[in-house]
Amino acid sequence: MLAPPLQRLVTELSKLPGIGNRTAQRLAFHVLRTSEADAFALAEAIRDVKLKITLCEICFNLAEGPRCAICLDERRDLSTLCVVEEPQDVIPIERTHEYRGLYHVLGGALSPIDGVDPEDLKLSELFARVENAPADAPVREVVLATNPTTTGEATALYVADRLRTSAPEVTVTRLASGLPVGADLEYADEVTLGKALAGRRAL
Ligand SMILES: [Zn+2]
Repeated sequence: MLAPPLQRLVTELSKLPGIGNRTAQRLAFHVLRTSEADAFALAEAIRDVKLKITLCEICFNLAEGPRCAICLDERRDLSTLCVVEEPQDVIPIERTHEYRGLYHVLGGALSPIDGVDPEDLKLSELFARVENAPADAPVREVVLATNPTTTGEATALYVADRLRTSAPEVTVTRLASGLPVGADLEYADEVTLGKALAGRRAL
């Protein structure tokens, strides 16, 4: 019923999470009505995000270039690493202003049922960062900030177990409770997350 170019836009938009066919149609008609400048700006922003955003070579956070803004910031505390599942988990922790260390983004959580094994995550890179840290800038603490879900907990325990033997001098901590069980870090408010960070405990 729709002209093919419009139908194509509806099809592409309906692939987005949470966008059903009716919403996709509404958005497509909106794009059609909007100015050329606005429509092309949207298209270009989508293109840029795919072409320009890479993963930081040190921590695997999102970066524009080889290293992310946090790894490039000389004021950060090199002795503390905060381990998170996804790049979007860095944002709420930064918003708390409670944390001045560096990050390590795993790219997911261990879930053997879903076929996510240790080699599918940036785990060997994490262990190398901790175990091979230069003598003048050793890692003293690893904060496990994976989600308080079954897979997030399993991942935290896996990392803690390994570091206990390979780097016994490093303190391994986990975010304190206060975070809603089963929820994603991404949706936690600053106060809750700030308290959870401040009250982290050894694992
Ligand atoms: Zn980085």
